Amino acid sequence: MKGTCLCAEVEFEISDKLPNLYQCHCSLCQKTTGSSSCSSFITSVEGFKWISGKDKISSYTKDNGFKSDFCSICGSPVPNRMNIGDYMWVPAGLLEADTDRTIAAHIHLDSRASWEKNANDTKNYPAGPESFEDFVSLLQDVQT
Ligand SMILES: [Zn+2]
Ligand SMILES: [Zn+2]
Repeated sequence: MKGTCLCAEVEFEISDKLPNLYQCHCSLCQKTTGSSSCSSFITSVEGFKWISGKDKISSYTKDNGFKSDFCSICGSPVPNRMNIGDYMWVPAGLLEADTDRTIAAHIHLDSRASWEKNANDTKNYPAGPESFEDFVSLLQDVQT
C-alpha cells in the first residue's frame, strides 16, 4: 500500500498487511490536524519504506516530547518513527487506495473538542452541497 502527502513529494510504501486504525482526539492532534482528531495506523519499521521526499520532511518537537513531522512544501502530516518499540506512526488519510481496515479504537475522548461532543443533529451530504449560499445560510442558522 502506497501513501503520499498532499503535494505527493513525500511518498512511502507499507508492505505489511495493514492493521486497524485508531483515532486520537487529544488537544495536540487537534492542533496538528487543524481538526477534531487524527486517524492513524501503527505499522512495523521493517514493513515501512520511504520512496521519495524524505529530504522534504520538517520536524517539530514540543517541550513535552510530542513530535510532528510534516511535508515542508504542502504541510501534510507525514509518518514518523514512534519513540516506543519498532513502530511507525502513519496518518491514514495519506493512503492512496481504499482498505477494508476500520477504526478499532478512539483515544483521549475526554479531550474531544466541544463542537465534536455536541455534534448529533448534522445534515449529511454524499458529495459537497449544491449551493454554497444555501450551505452558508444553513451554517448560520443557529438554534439555541
Ligand atoms: Zn507535500
Ligand atoms: Zn493525539
